[in-house]
Amino acid sequence: MENISIMFLWDVVTDPEHTFKGYFRWLDVRQTAEDGHWPDGIEFRNQLTGRIVAYRGGKLLSSDGTCITCCRKPAHIQA
Ligand SMILES: [Zn+2]
Repeated sequence: MENISIMFLWDVVTDPEHTFKGYFRWLDVRQTAEDGHWPDGIEFRNQLTGRIVAYRGGKLLSSDGTCITCCRKPAHIQA
């Protein structure tokens, strides 16, 4: 099975700073989030699954607010 994380599947759907566009690998989304380099509020959509992931407060969050970066809990939801 192919390693899906190396495929350029993640499309920038929201970028508050209008800096990024195009497609990214999950590896890059994760690493850049860890490095803190994404603009706050940027959102990516997986072109295969339609899943949306947002970068907020230094964390990657699922659309239901689940933290993907570290705890897998809805620990970083901001009102
Ligand atoms: Zn967390």
